[in-house]
Amino acid sequence: MLKKIEPKDTEIKKLLVYPDKKTTFRVESAEDKKNFSVKLYLQESAKKKYLEEHPHFAAKAMEEIFSTGSFHLGLGLEKDLDADRLAEAFTRVFSRLKNYQEKIQIILPEKLTSIFSVRDIANIAITSAGMQTYSVALLKSPRKADSQSGKDGKESKEPESRLKEVTFVAGNKTEWNHAINNLSPLVPHINGMRQVQALPGNYLTPVVMEKRAREMAAKFGLKISVYGQKELEKMQAGGILAVSQGSEREPRMIVLEYNPAGASSTLALVGKGVTFDTGGISIKPSSDMHEMKYDMSGAALALHAIVAIAEKKLPLKVVASLGMVENMPDGAAFKPGDVYRSYKGLTIEVQNTDAEGRLVLGDLLAYTEKKYKPDYMINFATLTGAIVVALGPYHAGLFSNSDEWKDMIVDAARDTLEPVWPMPMGRLNREELKSDIADYNNISGSRYGGSSSAAAFLSLFVEKTTRWAHLDIAGIGFMKKGFNVYPKGGTGYGIRLVTRLAEIISAKGKK
Ligand SMILES: [Zn+2]
Repeated sequence: MLKKIEPKDTEIKKLLVYPDKKTTFRVESAEDKKNFSVKLYLQESAKKKYLEEHPHFAAKAMEEIFSTGSFHLGLGLEKDLDADRLAEAFTRVFSRLKNYQEKIQIILPEKLTSIFSVRDIANIAITSAGMQTYSVALLKSPRKADSQSGKDGKESKEPESRLKEVTFVAGNKTEWNHAINNLSPLVPHINGMRQVQALPGNYLTPVVMEKRAREMAAKFGLKISVYGQKELEKMQAGGILAVSQGSEREPRMIVLEYNPAGASSTLALVGKGVTFDTGGISIKPSSDMHEMKYDMSGAALALHAIVAIAEKKLPLKVVASLGMVENMPDGAAFKPGDVYRSYKGLTIEVQNTDAEGRLVLGDLLAYTEKKYKPDYMINFATLTGAIVVALGPYHAGLFSNSDEWKDMIVDAARDTLEPVWPMPMGRLNREELKSDIADYNNISGSRYGGSSSAAAFLSLFVEKTTRWAHLDIAGIGFMKKGFNVYPKGGTGYGIRLVTRLAEIISAKGKK
């Protein structure tokens, strides 16, 4: 019965065509009067007149004026201008113009490069252009072509972005070109991540994620290994299997490898891929449960980040391990109080079936560490609501067993403007997890520090000698309302951060 209402493979294939690079970016030292121009202004004295024909325009933050051949936008006062506001401005520019202009030139206030580095300005501009010109309204019905597109009478859904070329009018061309070359290749991968994030649980299943990963592997020359129900049983991946047993859909553990000649270090990326999380028998409240289609964001990040790194041909080995399962309540589902034996051999009492991501990640971390002996390992997961309570939605929570590795991640976050915030975790958190009947519980049973006890649980599956970190992206991975360059919905968070981390490790060489 169920199979009959499943989306067709051909439809899914169409939906998952990899986003391409729609917009190119250039830098020029002088304005081209023929081109449509966007001008950004810092607000100065109250008396200053910016535009002759619009004397009231005062360049207040987000104050905008359209005039013939140009769009003017205020950035507000310098003292209030931070990266979030600059990103809001670029997001405004691209959302206003993407459907109307093929080419735009952006004229920045001269002073901007004394407030931000060229790299930061380019990063914000390119990423927001990339986000704004790719729509994730993937399942809207086709409608008749309108003036926006389909000159040949083809049908189209959303009007597609027409923006083909963005020119920055700025000095210091070398620095700009470096930033453009470094950052613009990431756009399709950020949007690729947003694409799989956007698809609902009946479209993006563990098996569909396998297809996506196989396609990526073929396209970017990666090795891929896929483990289904039988293989997982054979390897005794009890955590993944316990979560999956209430679902009609089989689980998948997917491992991709990028292994360039001469690589001296190995970086492992591990992603939680719960394609839908009802909470299982410890079922979630129904309000906002639809958002649990995003519970695979960690796996989406790991997959699209390894592809981004491979495309850049960075000289390090990278492994991406994705744990794809669906967490459903069912006659066969695992129950509170059940005990399972994890891949690593630890016995776990499941006191809450909604704390399932850590069971999946425990197996993935132990397997990845044992098989690949990575120099650096990081996992990504929309793991706990508690991280949003602790940090709000604007930062990922960062936990690590290594100060060196933690500092590298903080540096990469600063370089890419992808926010992380270090959080504590240690022996006392682990001790709270002791079970009366098994080795450990999957929750602490305390109301406090839920993100730290989740991180402590993960640490049980990693040897002390491996540099390991856990990034809890439950807040920033998907959002009700966007901020900075991040749109509403799946944010594509982390692609820039992880690619930068790979650059930092490559530059360090073997340690
Ligand atoms: Zn859950």
